[in-house]
Amino acid sequence: MFQIITQQLKKSLLPWLEERTRRAGAALFAKPDAWAVRSGWTITQRRGGLSRTYRDPRFDLLIRCTSCGGSGFNHTAARGACPTCGGSGRLVRTTHAEPARR
Ligand SMILES: [Zn+2]
Repeated sequence: MFQIITQQLKKSLLPWLEERTRRAGAALFAKPDAWAVRSGWTITQRRGGLSRTYRDPRFDLLIRCTSCGGSGFNHTAARGACPTCGGSGRLVRTTHAEPARR
């Protein structure tokens, strides 16, 4: 009997709670979500909609500098910042085939 009641509660209560949680998250994050959509960022909902991860897809264009291995340092006798990446250790991929510019 107890199991039947528990199963009935799960069937009716869980979807109700999930929907309320999702709606609360949508209301809570309405402004940052709208900003992210306008900016072309991706939105990943977590914890039933009560948490978000926003990501700028331009990060996919960053690659490690092949000259300095990502350190940003010039490893030759001249020292200082890497002349290829300017010391950032990263390059921006301009196309999928070719690597990079600063
Ligand atoms: Zn470099």
